[in-house]
Amino acid sequence: MYIVEIVIFFFLIGIIIGSFLNVCIYRLPKNENIVFPPSHCPSCQNRLRPKDLIPVMSFLLLKGKCRYCGEKIHWRYPVIEMINGLGWSVIILNYGVTIQGFVGIILFSLSLVIASIDLEHYIIPDSLVLVLILSGIIYHIVSRNLSLINILLGTVIGFTIPFVLALISRGGMGGGDIKLCTAIGMWLGLPGVFLALFLSSFVGSIVGITLIVTKIRQRKEPIPFGPFLVLGFFVTFFFQKEILTLYWSLF
Ligand SMILES: [Zn+2]
Repeated sequence: MYIVEIVIFFFLIGIIIGSFLNVCIYRLPKNENIVFPPSHCPSCQNRLRPKDLIPVMSFLLLKGKCRYCGEKIHWRYPVIEMINGLGWSVIILNYGVTIQGFVGIILFSLSLVIASIDLEHYIIPDSLVLVLILSGIIYHIVSRNLSLINILLGTVIGFTIPFVLALISRGGMGGGDIKLCTAIGMWLGLPGVFLALFLSSFVGSIVGITLIVTKIRQRKEPIPFGPFLVLGFFVTFFFQKEILTLYWSLF
């Protein structure tokens, strides 16, 4: 019923929330408050008015430049807004306005912020991991999909595997990665945590090797692992059953 209207509605809300995600991506790594002060141009400090803050549209109308000082606005702003809007509409199109759908859009936006910050700053803010943990607890209480034992095992494994890898690799994995993995393990339980870690490492290795072979990156330059972790998490959360069925059917 009215699925097109619902999807368009979530697309628009998605790009509006995307503009808040931009604030988080810009301010969280600097330990700044994400609510106060109101949005301002990072170059001239002029406070932005509502007409400057219309997601995507303002960027296009201003031709990508600040209205007050003419400084270029980073392309990331409209891109993040569009990705969030598109992500939300695809998820709602697939799952409808259901608990699964809402969990999907929250995880999508959270993953987008974690990946963007890690890509640029090589850190995963504790506050975001905390949001992931708290939302996971609420999700388990509401959905009752997993037993408590399963959740605890997932959490312990989500901590242990990256912790051991960090010891072996001496710095290949950061503290932020370990905390994020622990939260992911808590969300997924067993066997999801294994699948998510496998998928993250698999995609991460392929991308890493490709970047080194094509000389886009030096061998010693670190590649942030957060984006791959959230990708593995997201794919596992939604497609665990399909992937495991496919896997077992191979034997
Ligand atoms: Zn400016």
